[in-house]
Amino acid sequence: MAVIDMPARTRVAILGCTGSIGTQALDVCRQHADRLEVVALSAHSRTEDLVHFAREYGARHVAVTSEGHCGDAVLSELPATCSLHTGPRAAEELAELEDVDVVLVAIVGAAGLSASHAVLKSGKRLALANKESLVVGGDLLMPMVQPGQMLPVDSEHGAIFQCLLGEDAREAHCIWLTCSGGPFYGRTLQELADVTRCDALAHPTWNMGAKITIDSATLMNKGLERIEAMHLIGMDIDRINVLIQRESKIHSMVEFEDGSVLAHLGASDMRIPIQYAFSYPERWSTPAPRVDFRQIAQLTFGAPDMESFRCLKLAEIAGKQGGTLPCVLNAANEVAVDAFLHDACTFTGIADVVESCMDAHDSQSVESFEQLADVDTWARERARGIISSRF
Ligand code: NDP
Ligand code: MG
Repeated sequence: MAVIDMPARTRVAILGCTGSIGTQALDVCRQHADRLEVVALSAHSRTEDLVHFAREYGARHVAVTSEGHCGDAVLSELPATCSLHTGPRAAEELAELEDVDVVLVAIVGAAGLSASHAVLKSGKRLALANKESLVVGGDLLMPMVQPGQMLPVDSEHGAIFQCLLGEDAREAHCIWLTCSGGPFYGRTLQELADVTRCDALAHPTWNMGAKITIDSATLMNKGLERIEAMHLIGMDIDRINVLIQRESKIHSMVEFEDGSVLAHLGASDMRIPIQYAFSYPERWSTPAPRVDFRQIAQLTFGAPDMESFRCLKLAEIAGKQGGTLPCVLNAANEVAVDAFLHDACTFTGIADVVESCMDAHDSQSVESFEQLADVDTWARERARGIISSRF
């Protein structure tokens, strides 16, 4: 695998620095201040945190993407040497800066797509946490990727990337994409009907942003990850098997044509894949806890229940059909999850909304970012209409 040359101290931009991935990335930068320099930071609404981080890390550029927060008074406390970019294009502007080597896109949702596109266009390394970029725009983004330019941060995809190092991806027979099963593992569809927001926000393994936490409870997250893997590896979705691995110690596996299976194991700590996306091809020390395998009594495996966790099935349909259908799946899901978080949609209603939007869409092949933006807008309006009429 080729490597994009990095200077002695890599200049990092973190888009979505106020979120779960963003703050863990800042922690990695703090641990490795001799190797990583935080140059640019973006936030959407949490401007107080943004200003705090900009001061702590001496960032030279910051961006605020939410129009409603571009004029927040706290922004006047930014250091005089720090330039402020505002508005919906502000994160892309950071991605295009001359004095940045690697951009972590840790924005949540399809809002991250344009930033990922800007990073690839600029030729910089893209550390990609924002899986929705590939789910929605994989057909357009992947042909732009130079060898070694895109480093997946999603733990499963980081694991697959590492299992494929030195291998020929065409000799991979299938992928075992692992999944904790989420907080409702083993429940039937009926038992899922009265799940509350609080129940769903309590993920057993990972401490993440609200949207991905709900996606992990519905298993939409794993459905999105299958589509993400499809694009990253260039493999049909049928050969990307979801495997329940309750202990979350195996982060994914690649099975090769000769029957050999390579697995990536380690602690459930996102700082490890975030750091690797910065350090690749090197490996640096980590403060993350290490796994003592002598203390693990057993590793358990199982198949997912696609009848109860319908989002996983819907993502499979979208991945198989391809074109603009994954864009609809994603946009409808974002709206339904947001409604669920605001008590405006039930837990099982999320899949109903997504399915209705997918059924109403005539999938086309993906031609442009403008077309994807139109489809995204259509699906969001449709999803909002369904939610306001049904729930
Ligand atoms: P969070 O919700 O914790 O953080 C999201 C970040 O995106 C915040 O900085 C937020 O800014 C910013 N943001 C929100 N909306 C917009 C927008 N419209 N435009 C620009 N920026 C926006 O999410 P996570 O950190 O959990 O997840 C980020 C991404 O990483 C997601 O795509 C997720 O799927 C992926 N991921 C996350 C993992 C995790 O462990 N959390 C694991 C693997 C992948 P603000 O807070 O200022 O409003
Ligand atoms: Mg993941």
